[in-house]
Amino acid sequence: MRLILFGAPGVGKGTQAKILSSKFHIPHISTGDILRSAVNKKTELGLQAKEIMDKGELVPDDLMLKLIDEVLHDEKTQNGFILDGFPRTIQQAEKLDDVLENLSSKNKLCVIFLSADDELIVRRLSMRRTCSACGNIINLNYIEDPSSCPYCGSKNTFIKRKDDEEDIIRNRLKVFHETTAPVINYYKDNGCMLEVDGTLAVEEVTSKIVENLEKH
Ligand code: AMP
Repeated sequence: MRLILFGAPGVGKGTQAKILSSKFHIPHISTGDILRSAVNKKTELGLQAKEIMDKGELVPDDLMLKLIDEVLHDEKTQNGFILDGFPRTIQQAEKLDDVLENLSSKNKLCVIFLSADDELIVRRLSMRRTCSACGNIINLNYIEDPSSCPYCGSKNTFIKRKDDEEDIIRNRLKVFHETTAPVINYYKDNGCMLEVDGTLAVEEVTSKIVENLEKH
């Protein structure tokens, strides 16, 4: 199975990708996570991407095309994958098609479009935190004790992504509407494309996705 989780930042692509990855035993590929790891390790890619990511802009296509080419040729992705955060431009969508066509393994590509209102996304993302002890992502709106990680119990270990500040979130949404949203038209004739309301509860979103995938 090859899945693309498509939608605005903060709509729940990462959360669903993690759940589906363990359900279907295929790797979750988040280009944002790959880039953040490159930034932390100060690799050449990381150094080129850091300032762009901090502003909420898109990393240039030439760097992203090289990155996805490597990922999709990796042995781990040959039985399928879940892409989260890629493609974000038409050029990236075309590159993805090219690479997939030339791979020996053939698997159907399904696109899942998660939708949500911008103001809800701003509210969600500005309260999003990552626990620096266990790596889980939480939302301060939905936990009882805002100083304690509900997954590992660590105290005061929450960190906020630099691009989850409100002005940057709004810029990321602007970039999404201007550049990324039109990519959905590229997939409109794809036989396997479904839209799910990303404002539903996490479990509901998952079951709608799974139900629909079973039909294809
Ligand atoms: P994400 O974690 O998916 O929200 O991505 C965080 C940031 O990484 C984005 O705001 C972009 O700066 C960069 N990024 C991630 N994926 C891509 C992509 N496919 N194309 C361009 N930039 C990307």
